[in-house]
Amino acid sequence: MNGVIENAGLWVFSDTYDLTLEMLGKGRELADTLQTELVAVMIGSSVQEKANELTKYGADKVYLVDNPALEHFQAEPYLSILHTLATKHHPEILLIGSTKNGKPIAARLATRMETGCVPDCTGLSVDGNRRLIGERITYGGNAVAKVTFKSKPQIATVPSRAFEKPSPRDRKGEVIGLESKFETVKTEVIERKPLEASTARIEEAGVIVSCGRGLDKKEDKVLLDDLATVLCGQVGCSRPLVEDRKWFSEWVGLSGHKVKPKLYIACGISGVIQHVAGIRDSKVIVAINKDPEAPIFEIADYGVVGNLYEILPALKEALRKQLQ
Ligand SMILES: Cc1cc2nc3c(=O)[nH]c(=O)nc-3n(C[C@H](O)[C@H](O)[C@H](O)COP(=O)(O)OP(=O)(O)OC[C@H]3O[C@@H](n4cnc5c(N)ncnc54)[C@H](O)[C@@H]3O)c2cc1C
Repeated sequence: MNGVIENAGLWVFSDTYDLTLEMLGKGRELADTLQTELVAVMIGSSVQEKANELTKYGADKVYLVDNPALEHFQAEPYLSILHTLATKHHPEILLIGSTKNGKPIAARLATRMETGCVPDCTGLSVDGNRRLIGERITYGGNAVAKVTFKSKPQIATVPSRAFEKPSPRDRKGEVIGLESKFETVKTEVIERKPLEASTARIEEAGVIVSCGRGLDKKEDKVLLDDLATVLCGQVGCSRPLVEDRKWFSEWVGLSGHKVKPKLYIACGISGVIQHVAGIRDSKVIVAINKDPEAPIFEIADYGVVGNLYEILPALKEALRKQLQ
């Protein structure tokens, strides 16, 4: 490759495969601008095939650390592998998936490497001095801050669905298998059990039917489930339904999951800024609320003023007939 700067490169790493692909899409664009290599780091167990795939999605090189001991994410070994690799190869930029696991890894890596870390970048670009500029939503979703770096490597975390997943292409890249020496794990996993509520990642959903405090009882969630089933979507909720009522385990919004579905149906959700900040990139927003003054109607593409207990069953029936 012409113009490749030695001992540099733009790296991407995530413990979530789809997010790795999304970052490769944006990473390819930035690496081309910088005329540098795009490198993916893949850590896990039996992940050789997935690593090979990454070259089709834009990686020039993949550093692969494949070891049965790395089957499940654990902070210490993953961090020590990334740190060893980054110290050896000096990436210019490191994009890390902004997942529950990725965020602390990024912060800890930045501390070890005595550099900065910009979390949750929904926009990324580079300036004429090869500085990465991260855009992040701030002030409760009312402003976008542009942040850049004074040191290298430049570490930024990227949330799911911030960037489009690229289409695979028939292109060549190098997959380099590495020995897996890593720090001893200082914590022990006693038990793993799947979470009842989060069977699928809500960020991946094409349709989300979401409820707020307008829902009176936990059992009434069935109304949302029914509509979500007809639309092949998933159910989401506002934060009070998790924090106050304990009916769900995850919420949508600024401090929860940021979603980008084709269709977001907000039922009995007032639409305050902290919720809206997490849904504003949805293609179509439909709001159902009995208060015509509810702020959700300001950002909704379609609004239904009325009682969700009447509207949801009627909507489900109408859609079921249409889709039959
Ligand atoms: C730092 C911080 C971060 C936060 N992060 C988030 C976040 O990420 N996500 C989030 O959601 N919240 C977040 N919040 C909480 C947020 O400020 C709001 O309190 C919350 O979003 C309100 O939830 P809601 O719309 O369900 O409830 P409410 O604001 O109480 O709204 C309920 C709505 O339901 C309507 N309604 C009632 N009954 C019916 C009915 N039968 N039919 C139709 N409509 C009906 C009402 O008219 C009302 O508009 C955060 C708060 C803070 C301080």
